[in-house]
Amino acid sequence: MTASTVDVLLPLGLDTPYSYLVPDGLALVPGDLVTVPLGSRLMVGCVWPRRGDAQAKEVDTSKLKAVKKRLDHRALPPDLIKLIDWMADYTLAPRGMVLRMALRHEENPSPARERVGVRATGHTPERLTAARRRLLDVMSDGFVRAKTDAAREAGVSPSVVDGMVDEGALETLVLPPPPAAETPDPDHATPTLSEPQAEAAAAMVEAVKARAFSVHLLDGVTGSGKTEVYFEAVAESIRAGRQALILLPEIALTQAFLDRFTRRFGVTPAEWHSGVSTRRRGRILRGVAEGEVQVVAGARSALFLPFRDLALTIVDEEHDPAYKQEDGVAYHARDMAVVRARFSSSPIVLASATPSIETEVNARRGRYGRLALPLRFGGAKVPGLAPIDLRKEGPPRGRWIAPRLQAEIGQTLEDGGQALLFLNRRGYAPLTLCRSCGVRVKCPSCSAWLVEHRFRRRLTCHHCGYNAPVPENCPACGEKDSMVPCGPGVERLQEEVQVLFPEARSLVLSSDMTGGMERMRAELDAVAKGEVDVIVGTQLVAKGHNFPGLALVGVVDADVGLGQGDPRAAERTFQLVHQVAGRAGRGATEGRGFIQTHMPEHPVMQALVKGDRTAFYETEINAREEAHLPPYGRLASLVISANEGPAAEGHARRLAASAPRAEGVRVLGPAEAPLAVLRGRHRWRLLVRAPRGFDLSGYLRAWREVAPRPTGNTKVSIDVDPMSFM
Ligand code: ADP
Ligand code: ZN
Repeated sequence: MTASTVDVLLPLGLDTPYSYLVPDGLALVPGDLVTVPLGSRLMVGCVWPRRGDAQAKEVDTSKLKAVKKRLDHRALPPDLIKLIDWMADYTLAPRGMVLRMALRHEENPSPARERVGVRATGHTPERLTAARRRLLDVMSDGFVRAKTDAAREAGVSPSVVDGMVDEGALETLVLPPPPAAETPDPDHATPTLSEPQAEAAAAMVEAVKARAFSVHLLDGVTGSGKTEVYFEAVAESIRAGRQALILLPEIALTQAFLDRFTRRFGVTPAEWHSGVSTRRRGRILRGVAEGEVQVVAGARSALFLPFRDLALTIVDEEHDPAYKQEDGVAYHARDMAVVRARFSSSPIVLASATPSIETEVNARRGRYGRLALPLRFGGAKVPGLAPIDLRKEGPPRGRWIAPRLQAEIGQTLEDGGQALLFLNRRGYAPLTLCRSCGVRVKCPSCSAWLVEHRFRRRLTCHHCGYNAPVPENCPACGEKDSMVPCGPGVERLQEEVQVLFPEARSLVLSSDMTGGMERMRAELDAVAKGEVDVIVGTQLVAKGHNFPGLALVGVVDADVGLGQGDPRAAERTFQLVHQVAGRAGRGATEGRGFIQTHMPEHPVMQALVKGDRTAFYETEINAREEAHLPPYGRLASLVISANEGPAAEGHARRLAASAPRAEGVRVLGPAEAPLAVLRGRHRWRLLVRAPRGFDLSGYLRAWREVAPRPTGNTKVSIDVDPMSFM
C-alpha cells in the first residue's frame, strides 16, 4: 500500500511544492495551512493543488518527511490559491514568493492572549481603603469588566484589583476574545443620492446581487461623490452577509476616510496597512477568514487576505502608481484585484477622476462598464487652471512664486480662504553644489544627487536612504562655506511663503515628515478645521482629501517630470495636477487654480488649462496607439544588476543575445537603467516590446529556459507591465 502524500508550497524562492507524507488520521485538502519540517526547522506552508501531470509521477515515499500538523481553522480559499498560481505565471516570480505575500502574517501565528475579566461577588472585605471602596463602587453594577478596565474606571492600580480578588470580593473569569471588527450597519445613515449618483449606485448594487464577475469604471470628477456611491454597493454586500474589500493608496487611508465610513455605517472598517499592529492584524486575518469581518479598507497587500466570501472589490484612485509594487514580486494591485475578482466570480469597481490610460481604453472598448458622474455633488464647479508662463512672468531669481500667484494668494488669505501650493519635490533643495568649483553632492551608492532636508539638517538619498550632514566646506575643492542649495523643495517653498506672508500659518505636507501616519492624520485634520492658511505639499495632497476651506491651488512647477521622454510622465502630470486642482472649491467658496509652467503650449498643459479631460485622453491614447505602447502593445523590463558594472553589462549582453525570435517581438538594449547605480548595484536594462495580446509571460519563460544563468552576485529582475516606458 502506498502512503498518502500531499504537495506543500513553502513561502520561499521556490516555484514547485514539496511532497510530504500525511500522518494517519489527518485529512488535508488544498488550501490548508500546515507546519512541515524543512532541514532542521519547522515552517508554515500551504497544501497545494496537484497539477494534472504531477499526479502520475512516482515518488519514493521512503525518503519523505511527514507533515507536522495542520493549523487549526486556517486555510487559503480557492480563489486566493488560483490568484497566487496566476500571479506566479504572469510575473515569473517563484510561486513560493507570491505565497509569501499571503502568509506574511501567518508565519508566527501568535496565540490570542487570554483576557481576564472580574465581577463583584457581593462579599465585602474587612479592611477597606479609599481605593478599594472606589473599585467596589464601580463594580457594584454587577457587570463583568476586563481587569484593566476595572482598574482604569476606578482610578486604582491593577494591584488593587488583584488584592480584592484575593480577598474574595471579586471573582475572575475568562473573557471571550474581542471581535476583530464591529459589524457595520448598512442602514446606519443612508444619504440622499443625486440622480446620477443613484443611477451609478443602482448599477453597482445590481452587480453585487448578480454574484458574477464584472468590472466597472466609476468615472467621476473630483468631488462628484464617488465614495458615497460605492458605499451603497458595500452596504448591499453587508446586507447579504458577505464581504467587501476597499483598496486605497496607503496614504489615502486617512482619518477623513475612516470618519466618512463611520458616519455611513456606524463603525470603523477593519484597516489593513503597514501601520496596523501585528496583533491586530492577526485578529483581522482570522476574522476575514471566518467571514466575521465584513469590510476591509486596506493598502495593496489587503489583496492577499483570505476572504471567505468576497462579494465586492473597490479600487479607489485606481490610477495611483502606489498600487504598483516594484520590489520583490513586481505586480500591479489593481490588475491583480481584477484577476481575483474573476476567480471569485464577484464584481470589481475601479474609481477615479483621472482613470489610467489602460482603464480608460478598456472602458472605451466596452470591456469595462462605465458609470459616469460628470458633475460635482451640490453643483460646485471644478476650478479651471490659469496658466502662468514662467518664461514671461516668472519670479525673481531664487524665488519660485510668480508675482501674479503671490498677489492671488494674498487676496485669498485676505478673504479668509486657504491656499495650497503643490510642488512634487520633497525636502529643502533637490541639489547642493559648490559655488566655487561647481561640484554637486552625490549619493555614494546611487547615481542620484543628495536632497537637502533642512528640518533634519541632513542631505538624503531618496533612493537608498543614505544621509549625511550638510558639508560646510566643499568636499571637492575644500573652499570654505561654499555649498549652496539649488532649486526648490517643499521646505524651501514654505520658507518663501513665510517671507511673503509672515502672518499666515503654513504647513508642509510631505511623506517624509517625522511622526508618521498619526501625525499626518492630525495635520490633515488641522487643515480641514481651518487651522492652517497655506499648505505646501507634495503629491501626498493630491489624494482623496477633502479640504472644505480651500479656495486657491497653485501648481508651482507643472513641468517636473515632463520633457524627459517617458510617455507615462504626461499621464502622471495630468493626473496629479488635475487631482490637486480638484482639492479646491469643494466647500461653499468657488475654487481657483494657477499653474506655473515653462511650456504652456504642451498638450498636457493645454488640457489642464481648458479643463478638457477628453482632449487629454484623445491626445494621449492616440500617441500610445501610434507608438504601440501599452495598452496597444506589451512591455516587460529586465533589470540586470551586479556589484561591478562590467559584470552587469556583460550578462545583459549575453542575455540579449539569447533572446528567442518571435513574430513582432523586439528586445531593446542593453542600456544603462534609468537609475544606473542603486544601493551600490550597477544596473543595466533590456526592454521587451511585443504586440497587443501577445503571451509575453510565456515568451519570457521560454527565454529563461535558454538564457545563460547569472553567476556570482549578478541578478536579473523581471517586471511585466512596468510603470515607466523609458
Ligand atoms: P469624490 O470621491 O468623487 O471626489 P466625494 O465622495 O469625496 O467625491 O464627495 C465630495 C463631497 O460631497 C463630500 O464631502 C461628500 O460627503 C459630499 N457628498 C457626496 N455625495 C453626497 C450625498 N449624496 N449627500 C450628501 N453629501 C454628499
Ligand atoms: Zn543612494
